[in-house]
Amino acid sequence: NLAAQLAHARATTPDLPYLVFDGPEPRTVTFAEAYRLAAAYAEVLAGRHGIGKGDRVAVAAPNTLEYVLAYWATVSLGAILVGLNGWWTPAEMDHGLALTEPALVLGSGAPMERASATPWSGTAGVPHVPLEELHAAATGLADPPGALPGVAVDEDDPAAIMFTSGTTGRPKGATISHRNFVFFNQHGALGGATTALLDGHRYRQVPDGAQRASLIVSPLFHVSGAGVTMAVAPMAGLKLVFPGPGRWDPERALRLTHEHGITQWSGVPTHFWRMLAHPDFASFRTAQVTMVGSGGAIFPPELMRHVRETMPGVQLGNGYGMTETLGTGTLCTGSLLEEHPGSVGAAVPTVRVQVREDGRPLPEGEVGEIHIQGPGVFLGYWRDPEATAGVLDAERWYRTGDYGRIEDGLLYLESRIRDLILRGGENIYPIEIEYRLVEHPEIVEAAVVGVPDRVLGREVKAYVVREEGSALTAEGVREWAAQTLAAFKVPAHVEFRDALPYNETGKVMKRRLEEEHAAGPR
Ligand code: ATP
Ligand code: MG
Repeated sequence: NLAAQLAHARATTPDLPYLVFDGPEPRTVTFAEAYRLAAAYAEVLAGRHGIGKGDRVAVAAPNTLEYVLAYWATVSLGAILVGLNGWWTPAEMDHGLALTEPALVLGSGAPMERASATPWSGTAGVPHVPLEELHAAATGLADPPGALPGVAVDEDDPAAIMFTSGTTGRPKGATISHRNFVFFNQHGALGGATTALLDGHRYRQVPDGAQRASLIVSPLFHVSGAGVTMAVAPMAGLKLVFPGPGRWDPERALRLTHEHGITQWSGVPTHFWRMLAHPDFASFRTAQVTMVGSGGAIFPPELMRHVRETMPGVQLGNGYGMTETLGTGTLCTGSLLEEHPGSVGAAVPTVRVQVREDGRPLPEGEVGEIHIQGPGVFLGYWRDPEATAGVLDAERWYRTGDYGRIEDGLLYLESRIRDLILRGGENIYPIEIEYRLVEHPEIVEAAVVGVPDRVLGREVKAYVVREEGSALTAEGVREWAAQTLAAFKVPAHVEFRDALPYNETGKVMKRRLEEEHAAGPR
């Protein structure tokens, strides 16, 4: 279970820094200190708040030290951490709370304010405790415990309820087991996602044997942030550097990389573009960065080349996964990615991927719905057996809702089912067009959506972000697309934007683009 992971880190790498929080009052906590503090938090949660196995503990907070410690304390009690999305409105918070019925709500800052301003909070009679208060209680214990509580926790017990990004609709509460988390890091006999991560991304090959360090920009309420923090770091002795409060900023990211010897960057393409384009890029120490990993969104080949040129020798990776598989699925790294840009690679060890139609696997090259099976696959949607039955079959294959095809053993994403454009009699998969557009040297980002068309039902519309100073025209974009794409896939509409609308987890909000199109020209 998860507690055993932290215990492992305390036993093997006690004095290595684990969590670094930048900000006006920077804080660094070693693995041993994190263990000790988490044990004290658990004592307070159990002793003062009566939290026990199976109870839900909701957290509404930005990424903070207290958040991570509350996570460890909760899962070590066999309780279930509910990661409320920090950007949710009170109405969305209300949905998350009413669905999961926590016994305690923890939080800080604006997210806590919003979580507290909900009808559920008004009527449930459940305590809302600021994380700072929990921290003070834990560090003030007269007789602090020496170990995490010895609650028997099975690998199939739930550890967390994490919400999907809500890209296609209302966020769904995915119940994640201890096994799912641990698998995120399993290496050794079975192999697992991290085997691929560790070996494929060469975690170990850091110049001069220094500690590996990762800059964490993903929120802790999302699988991407939680998985690295809870599973990978303690097992890999990885230092996590959190930028602290405020918006993501390329200069701060570069400064932290420089100051803390960051060896790997993970994020979404916009982050990398902006860091590389920073006028003072060369003045920051980045030579120790050995890995740049992207996931959750398409990874433009143009960006890949750009990273290659600016940071020679760096390993690039593109991963595909989702909340329901705790981020595990496929991975494309190194020369594979170079030779097959646009691919999300092959299944990581112990994971199986199939492309199916009507429940049956399709031959290579044919487009169908991607299915994933493996130890990362979640337990189901919280208290929603119907929705769960809709995505998990008897053999626990998970239906992803994404279209793709397999070629030479490598997976290529085509589109979310929801984003498929039905134009006349043709099915158009936006990702293929997006990849073609971002291949253009003057196009930084692109998102393709279907918009209503009187004759064809739907037409292809491209939202394009140009490189600064570019004079590329809509006609130029169409000509570029037409060089390699069939005529019906060439965007009928092109709209230039300064930036694309992203949600908190780095996904383009296509629903918003469609709504904006419907509302008329800006
Ligand atoms: P919701 O399920 O609520 O609509 P979501 O699917 O965006 O939200 P997540 O679980 O955070 O929530 O995201 C998983 C999805 O992200 C995948 O199903 C896939 O569509 C997309 N995705 C994941 N990895 C990649 C990638 N490497 N390239 C392109 N898209 C990706
Ligand atoms: Mg989804």
